[in-house]
Amino acid sequence: MAVKSVALVAHDNKKKELVDWVARNQTRFAQLELFATGTTGRLLAESLGRDDIHRLLSGPLGGDQQIGAKIAEGAIDLLVFFWDPLEPQPHDPDIKALLRIAALWNIPVACNSATAEFILTSAYMTDDQYAVPRPDFSYYTDRNLQP
Ligand code: PGA
Repeated sequence: MAVKSVALVAHDNKKKELVDWVARNQTRFAQLELFATGTTGRLLAESLGRDDIHRLLSGPLGGDQQIGAKIAEGAIDLLVFFWDPLEPQPHDPDIKALLRIAALWNIPVACNSATAEFILTSAYMTDDQYAVPRPDFSYYTDRNLQP
């Protein structure tokens, strides 16, 4: 069975909401490969008692960009990103870049628990025949290769 990969990121004021939501859905998450930025990943690992979460750098230190790179490589099927709409972040350009790369590569993105709940309970999440369609950018690459 093809295991789906989920990237999880939460800003400080949203971490508790994300960890509580994942804990409530622990059974579904047990079937998924998890990636997370540093602090979010540590809190998830502690809450779930899992030692198999791929923890990247903390968001402000480049973790958002690492997740963006994984999306571009096709390694992530779903991004759950509880960004904080009430507080400015020092790494705002990285946040925009992550949301942009997720839109570019047609990755489903949940920015709040209601959306995350809809996506997590979608039949696609457990359908091992289903993969998010990756856009074909060959025309774009070809155009750039013209002399
Ligand atoms: P963190 O990073 O999980 O290391 O806190 C998240 C972020 O602030 O983007």
